[in-house]
Amino acid sequence: MKKKYTLLALILLIISCETVNKNEFAIVIHGGAGTILKENMSNELETAYKNKMKEALDAGYYILKTSGTSIDAVEAAIKILEDSELFNAGRGSVLSNNEEVEMDASIMTGHNLNAGAISGIKHIKNPISLARKVMEESEHVFLSGKGAEDFAVSKGFETIENNSFITERRLNSVRNAKKRDSIQDNKFGTVGCVALDKFGNITSGTSTGGMTNKKWNRIGDVPIIGAGTYANNNTCGISSTGWGEYFIRNVVAYDISSQIDYLKIDINQAAKNTLKKVKDLGGSGGVIGIDKNGNVMMDFNTKGMYRGYIKSDGEIKIEIYQ
Ligand code: ASP
Repeated sequence: MKKKYTLLALILLIISCETVNKNEFAIVIHGGAGTILKENMSNELETAYKNKMKEALDAGYYILKTSGTSIDAVEAAIKILEDSELFNAGRGSVLSNNEEVEMDASIMTGHNLNAGAISGIKHIKNPISLARKVMEESEHVFLSGKGAEDFAVSKGFETIENNSFITERRLNSVRNAKKRDSIQDNKFGTVGCVALDKFGNITSGTSTGGMTNKKWNRIGDVPIIGAGTYANNNTCGISSTGWGEYFIRNVVAYDISSQIDYLKIDINQAAKNTLKKVKDLGGSGGVIGIDKNGNVMMDFNTKGMYRGYIKSDGEIKIEIYQ
């Protein structure tokens, strides 16, 4: 009899632990890393960045809190950042050498390792939504250029003028970069989001205009699954920002996930190890992530990274500098 009660108590304990875990959720975003210094930032601009990050976090948090899915939360948060001129994604994207906007994005869901990615997009307002469409309604993972836009139109997306993404600030930057003949401006304004929902599902997404003054249809890490974006419910979700070539060569997002998988180390240590490898090769940038237990990570090897999170208990953090 006593044995029976002990067994029952054990089962109840397991069920209640499961319930607690199932209700844990979290969302984390970044808006790019780089040489972001307090002394170069006006109070107004700093407030504008923080407010926009809060708006994106709140939108995702609301979806998660009301038992929505992590993919809906990630898409909603990234769309807000894409629509803001402050970040290098959607409107406000950096310009290529021929003074056009060419955008890349990707998304991945951790319960089924499904992924969607697009690159070289010039006329779709929210690239993250197109990446999601590729994942959910095509038999492919990665579409590029005109084909990707044809697919978008076939799925009912509106096309808009490339001009409508362009801002004066980005035009000035590309003209300066052209004079220096460089693609590096030490600021990476890519946006990204990782969310864990109440059902234990992790989604990661990343969206960017790439790097200023890029040529020859250059593609960075953002649409490359495993480099800019990765999600696996057994380990974590990751979104990257930084000098894309180095993030591709280090397969950054997958490298962090794999360390958790094989070495059983925590997400913060895994991110540190990977960012060190990026730095040792000469690259810079940052990563955000959430592991399967809801631990949030935000790390970078630059002077700053626009970043923030909200956890299920309402704990919120929004930061910019080191
Ligand atoms: N990683 C992006 C790229 O190389 C740039 C960024 O993070 O802003 O295209």
